[in-house]
Amino acid sequence: MSATPRLHVTPDLGEGVDIPIDGDQAHYLTRVMRLGVGDPVRVFNGRDGEFNASVSVVTRSTAGLALGRRLREQAAAPDLWLLFAPLKKARTDFVVEKAVEMGAAEIQPVLTERTDAETVRVDRLLRLAVEAAEQTERLDVPPVHQAMKLDAVLRQWDAGRLLIFADEAGDEGGRPWGGETGRAGPIAEVLGKLGESPAAILIGPEGGFSPGERKRVRDLPFVRPVSLGPRILRAETAAVAALALWQAIRGDWRR
Ligand code: SAM
Repeated sequence: MSATPRLHVTPDLGEGVDIPIDGDQAHYLTRVMRLGVGDPVRVFNGRDGEFNASVSVVTRSTAGLALGRRLREQAAAPDLWLLFAPLKKARTDFVVEKAVEMGAAEIQPVLTERTDAETVRVDRLLRLAVEAAEQTERLDVPPVHQAMKLDAVLRQWDAGRLLIFADEAGDEGGRPWGGETGRAGPIAEVLGKLGESPAAILIGPEGGFSPGERKRVRDLPFVRPVSLGPRILRAETAAVAALALWQAIRGDWRR
């Protein structure tokens, strides 16, 4: 891992290309990182891989980068989405930042019956996602979508994508740990049996899923309910745990 700052940019990248940097990014490079002409930077845009670059010009409010050689070819992140019910602001920020570090390819906030928030600030979460992608050395920034009602998301679902349903309460929502029958399988066992298919993880809100919601989700053919163990995890903990296990068992944490 290198200490050379990484920057997500939008223009096309190629050896010998010059790209303009302005606004917040110029401020970050020249005022926060105090970079000057000749200093190294790494750039990526989610399409062309990662390039070496150096600061070629600095003005009061802009900068320019001269691209050198390509350091890494573009590689796709594992096809794993995260669906989560928005939480209080700082905890939603945490979920988005961790989802980027854990390699989620798309982030979809979903509104469930017991979700606290009615919407999310996508512009702010996207900025957070860019910062996390720069820090975690990803070659892309996953999209963070507008919050949608869970039922609407599931109505338009591509059945070729398995939905790993983090179900903390089993079949009978009224009982603390679900009914004796139909309890969700341990996540490692469930993931171990899955083929190499696109997937998504669904994490509920602090208040959990309602019994009706749970039944509707479990009745869908592409859903795989999972248990994350005998304790109730905070939603953000559950999100990180499920993402980590998926990456370790099905994703790019394998050799
Ligand atoms: N319904 C829970 C209760 O009884 O207090 C609260 C929900 S929990 C704080 C938030 C979300 O994290 C759940 O909806 C579920 O998606 C996930 N989760 C937490 N612990 C879990 C577990 N042990 N197994 C599966 N999912 C879990």
